[in-house]
Amino acid sequence: MKSILPSHTSVFQFFFKLEPKTRRRHRKKRPTHTKERAAARALVHERLLYFNQFYNFSYQRVFIKNQKTRWGSCSKNGNLNFNYKIVHLPLHLADYIIVHELCHLGEFNHSKNFWALVGRTLSDYARRKKELQLLSQHGFHLRKFRSTINT
Ligand SMILES: [Zn+2]
Repeated sequence: MKSILPSHTSVFQFFFKLEPKTRRRHRKKRPTHTKERAAARALVHERLLYFNQFYNFSYQRVFIKNQKTRWGSCSKNGNLNFNYKIVHLPLHLADYIIVHELCHLGEFNHSKNFWALVGRTLSDYARRKKELQLLSQHGFHLRKFRSTINT
């Protein structure tokens, strides 16, 4: 017997006149990019341990996020956040992001003292910073990441 409902409409939607779009918004979000997140977490933890031998800062938790516009951030209460896409960067640029956020635990600003901290382990940080900016401007933009990495 043929259903009277259009194939994409569930009985629930039909009776409550909900658009499929509306329902989708209520559905629980599944975690995405789990493999890349795991790889990013492993990389970040390893490099944090390595660089923190020189700084000895104490941090709280490390979060691997799917952010649209940021590579990393440091919160006032000492949590470090990193974009999972960091795994796709060359290591010297991933290191720059990791050291940058790590140093915010010592200086919560971009003052001279902050850059001096970064420079303690990455003497060429200015070159890396520039390279990361150039990558972002020339096709490695976080928003367009998927399409640029596949071509
Ligand atoms: Zn910063």
